Amino acid sequence: MKVLVTGGTGLIGKAIRHAVEENPCDGEEWVFVSSKEADLRDPKATKALFEKHRPTHVIHLAAEMGGMIRISQHNVEFLRNNLLINDNVLYNSHAMGVKKCMTALTSAIFPCEIQYPVDETNVHDGPPHDSVSGYAWAKRMVDVQNIAYNKQYGCKFTSVVPINLFGPYDNFSLKDGNVMPALIHKAYLAKKNGESLPVWGSGSARRQFMYSHDLGRLMVWAVKEYEETEPIILAVGEEDEISIKEAVELVVEAMDFQGEVAYDTTKSDGQFRKTCSNEKLRKYLPDFKFTPIKQALKETCDWLAENYEEAR
Ligand code: GDP
Repeated sequence: MKVLVTGGTGLIGKAIRHAVEENPCDGEEWVFVSSKEADLRDPKATKALFEKHRPTHVIHLAAEMGGMIRISQHNVEFLRNNLLINDNVLYNSHAMGVKKCMTALTSAIFPCEIQYPVDETNVHDGPPHDSVSGYAWAKRMVDVQNIAYNKQYGCKFTSVVPINLFGPYDNFSLKDGNVMPALIHKAYLAKKNGESLPVWGSGSARRQFMYSHDLGRLMVWAVKEYEETEPIILAVGEEDEISIKEAVELVVEAMDFQGEVAYDTTKSDGQFRKTCSNEKLRKYLPDFKFTPIKQALKETCDWLAENYEEAR
């Protein structure tokens, strides 16, 4: 088994590497490639990458990504670049006889007007949110492509949908990072500089958060064991959904921050909830143990403190 992981140096790629190193198996080779090795928008470069590594399995993480503001201002580029990347990766996976190609999608693919919790059957039930439409439609098309490749050629192509993540090697950007890494970074700076910790919005919005190391373990399981073409949501349970205020309190504790927390209610709370069901995952893995959030946050805070200079 030779697994090629595209986008392999980001948060999820590093988490997969962690899971593989934690539980090494004989007869497996894992290759983690970054955009530096090949521009996957380019058909020739993608073909050359596949010819060089000749994978039996592909975990496709590479994508043009960004925060909501950047996506909303560049929907054409996000649509086009992701369509190109995904088409090249799936086309070459088929052409080279890859046994399984598993693409990471995003919870942004789900319709914006929908009953919560959402599950895997809801992907095409209505348009995604306007602000991220280019990115979300390109990601949704992967499901359409997977079905087509499966029907016409019998390819085992599939997809997984992770939820809000955090962990080592995250994008800790204050402006453009997701809420958890941004809060961790803000708490780190507030503690260091003796300032207050600024939080956007009222703290009432609710989210499910998952530790990247747990996702890494689930992705390794999925690429080996998950046989359906339809996507599978990889998420903690609905009962683990917390408010942003609770997330802030957990970060404050993990960082041992003693100062004041300042909620800036002039900033938007965004969508109130985006709850995803993990019922399908639980049917496959009823006993999977997620890392307790306090431990996961402590490990992430410690990682940031130790790697501050190299962190994104
Ligand atoms: P994401 O989950 O970070 O991709 O962004 P969402 O818009 O889904 O949710 C973020 C929620 O966290 C909103 O309610 C924000 O108001 C709140 N929030 C509080 N502080 C921050 C921050 O520093 N960065 C981000 N991205 N969100 C924050």
